[in-house]
Amino acid sequence: MKLIARRKDEQQETTKVRVGDVIIGGSELVVIAGPCAIESYEQLLSTALEVQRLGATMLRGGAYKPRTSPYSFRGKREIGLETISQVKALTGLPVVTEVMDARDIEQVAKVADMFQIGSRNMQNYTLLTEVGKTKLPVFLKRGLASTLEEWIYAAEYIMAEGNDQVVLCERGIRTFETYTRNTVDITAIPALKELTHLPVFLDPSHGTGKWSLVSPVALAGVAAGADGLMIEVHPQPDLALSDGDQSLNFKNFAELMERIEPVAKAVGRALA
Ligand code: PEP
Ligand code: MN
Repeated sequence: MKLIARRKDEQQETTKVRVGDVIIGGSELVVIAGPCAIESYEQLLSTALEVQRLGATMLRGGAYKPRTSPYSFRGKREIGLETISQVKALTGLPVVTEVMDARDIEQVAKVADMFQIGSRNMQNYTLLTEVGKTKLPVFLKRGLASTLEEWIYAAEYIMAEGNDQVVLCERGIRTFETYTRNTVDITAIPALKELTHLPVFLDPSHGTGKWSLVSPVALAGVAAGADGLMIEVHPQPDLALSDGDQSLNFKNFAELMERIEPVAKAVGRALA
């Protein structure tokens, strides 16, 4: 762990990751919100405008979707990327979107402000190395069955290529529990802050898999010191082409944003 370890003797500060005008890892808590997958221009634009109005400062949305079944909706791909650029032009929100394949890096980088490396690709060392060679920030999600050490070394792969703009995102891990989609490892947040100097996010949407559990777990993440939250929001979760069960509608997202503020304040942070 040459590059990622927090140097205790020097009381090293958390690395600030800049995504457009947004600073991750500073005193302000950053909320990234948006649909699991980009389904249409109207869907992404309406969600972007609403989450922006409610206080999110970054937009998410997948054009390339890693799906368990090859017969599920796998994303709009190039059309999705085009939608991102249109919605960005209208809202000014920086966008994080997943890159699944090293061959797509150049094309994704044309519209994205930040690469997402998904859970299933956390140990795709070719992909990590290639995004490490770019200057775009990287949102590295925890592998669904990865230890903290394996995750830390995955980030180190990116940093070893010269890109230190990396954000770690806890998104739940697989355990024996089946009621929830994954088990959120809240401890990972303070543990990673102790071990590394990178900003740490929580994604309670994939972490829980159930929209009713998203807000309470989001608040727990903020209380535990997360630098930000990634939340899936959809105009009509019942009709979503992916992850509808865990997506907040606009009303539920508005309620979450209201509840975040006092919790953030209690741990010395303000909403960005
Ligand atoms: C996503 O963010 O939509 C996603 C697929 O996440 P994960 O890689 O954490 O499953
Ligand atoms: Mn999703």
